[in-house]
Amino acid sequence: MAAQEPLTIPGEPKLSGRIREAANRDALGHAAILSGRGDLPAAARFMAAAFQCRGADKPCGSCPDCRKVGKGIHPDVTVVEDPDHKNIAVDVLRGVASSASVLPNEGRRKVYIFPDANVLDGKAQNVLLKVIEDGPSHAAFIFCAENSAVLLPTIRSRTAEWKLSPAAAAGADSRAVQMCEILCGGRAEDLAAFCAELENSKISREELKLLLSDARDLLASGLAACYGAAGEGLAARLAERAGRRRLSAWAEVLGRYIRQCSYNVGAGHLTGALAVELAE
Ligand SMILES: [Zn+2]
Repeated sequence: MAAQEPLTIPGEPKLSGRIREAANRDALGHAAILSGRGDLPAAARFMAAAFQCRGADKPCGSCPDCRKVGKGIHPDVTVVEDPDHKNIAVDVLRGVASSASVLPNEGRRKVYIFPDANVLDGKAQNVLLKVIEDGPSHAAFIFCAENSAVLLPTIRSRTAEWKLSPAAAAGADSRAVQMCEILCGGRAEDLAAFCAELENSKISREELKLLLSDARDLLASGLAACYGAAGEGLAARLAERAGRRRLSAWAEVLGRYIRQCSYNVGAGHLTGALAVELAE
């Protein structure tokens, strides 16, 4: 293999540098929140590798630990999900707490990634709070959330927050703009064709989530224009052609689908249902 580029989180060179700098000082702490609208899963992998890396510049991307984290097969990096329930069951978290107390198999730390903190309710977070407070020093927790406010203040106060910059996502999805233009046009068949195309492109749930979040932001700017905010271009057109009621209804539908993207539902299934709901 050729010499590797230094690892970075896509679109986040600055944040990558800051995480790297903290990792090299062994100052990543016990718990981290990755928030914002960029590629949170990639950021979580990057940070998990930084926790585990045995290279000089962490994450080096080439030591056995970094490679295993990259492939998603590191035995001491656990992605905590509960596909059977809407929220992660408390039992699953008790399992996390007891496994965290066991020494790592081969890594430097036992790392637990929560890919979507929205599915941690108050009870679940309180179970985790105890482990964060009193758990063994080898345990590390990474929470991903578009908005860190979904975590209890007691957890946030014990956790370093790393924000992905919105600039990284800006302009990322021209398809979100296209989707809003189509909504603006008001032709159900165009919307169905657009969603079918998304399905055919084998869009991943994460990509779909970002696309829908961008689209929802655009609808919000249209809504703001309805309420008198200076809007131009698409925002103004949305305000003029769709109006307040439809914009907020669409934003609500998108919000629901954004949340669904966090569960184990195929993106193809979601895009099909989305076309129907938005057309209603
Ligand atoms: Zn490494």
